[in-house]
Amino acid sequence: MEDWQRSLSESVVTEKDLARYFNINPDEIREIIKEYPMRIPKYYLNLIEKPGDPIWLQAVPDVREIQDTGCPDDPLHEDVDSPVPNLVHRYPDRVLFLVTFQCTMYCRFCTRKRGVGHPGFVDRHAFDKAIRYIAEHEEIRDVILSGGDPLILTDDKLERIIAPLREIPHLDIIRIGTKVPCTFPERITQSLCDMLKKYHPLFINVHFNHPRELTPQAKKACEMLADAGIPLGNQTVLLKGVNDDPEVMSALMKGLLKMRVKPYYIYQADITKGTNHFRTKVEVGLKIMRALRGYTSGLAVPYFVIDAPGGGGKIPILPDSIVGYDEQTGDYLLRNYEGKIFRYPEAGVQVQISPENQIPADWIA
Ligand SMILES: *Cc1c(COP(=O)(O)O)cnc(C)c1O
Repeated sequence: MEDWQRSLSESVVTEKDLARYFNINPDEIREIIKEYPMRIPKYYLNLIEKPGDPIWLQAVPDVREIQDTGCPDDPLHEDVDSPVPNLVHRYPDRVLFLVTFQCTMYCRFCTRKRGVGHPGFVDRHAFDKAIRYIAEHEEIRDVILSGGDPLILTDDKLERIIAPLREIPHLDIIRIGTKVPCTFPERITQSLCDMLKKYHPLFINVHFNHPRELTPQAKKACEMLADAGIPLGNQTVLLKGVNDDPEVMSALMKGLLKMRVKPYYIYQADITKGTNHFRTKVEVGLKIMRALRGYTSGLAVPYFVIDAPGGGGKIPILPDSIVGYDEQTGDYLLRNYEGKIFRYPEAGVQVQISPENQIPADWIA
């Protein structure tokens, strides 16, 4: 057993474990985790400052999870879009490959809440079928390993997944989606990095939701992966009480860049059963995006997306930047980050731009 495995086995998983740290109602916690499992690594538990804070909300079961009856189990229709078990093929040229249903931490807002916590690694039969499907579909040029968290697997098991994928000639890139640098950074070992870097081009998307998760340990984990030549992106979920605030989100995005991680997506929380208490109004995300674009480095600005229920895929939600088109002059009227409106002459029309080129905002309304 490796050190990280021993450390993970000391995570908080029962109501009794949790009651050693916090004043909770063990009967209530037991009821919730019968339905939706709990695992909190000691490292992440130590980031909690007090009950109800943004770290606690992500990790500690809440009775509202089992009171939520309105939401579907599989809002994204991942089961519907699955041609063979463990594979989701929704977009033309890329597939999601769910390689395990275990995680180092069970996030309370998980989009696959219905499925996580089951033992182990995809079985041999399902694995062979998934590899065969990818090999037979030459249009697939990008495989995203997800789960569960692929990095909960040992280096050996992970290599037994990645190596056969790399043999497939039409596969350009391999991606891994993992929360390990955030919840359990000690899993990022030098031997893991040495294994991964044999399989470039390999990309990793990590998952941080709050600036307090950007610790020296998390930074080191990201830097080790980046030093192995792996470009890092981040996917954040917009969560009520955690990061539904422009200042918090701005600090998170800027902090990620300092750890060599490029913010990739901010997701509107999915309508997954058991997670409804985390959802925010769409306007909250738009307000956050308006507070980022223009006010800070473009590198710190991800796309805000809603994964459309029913398998529509990710749809970027943008503050309206085209406010109109002036038929008379052939100019587009564009709104900048401050809300000011500027003319942009369409190609092929006579350019007539006044020196300041600005239109009073009330001219449009
Ligand atoms: C998110 C997702 C992808 C990857 O989408 P990108 O926009 O390319 O990052 C692929 N397949 C499924 C089913 C997804 O949900």
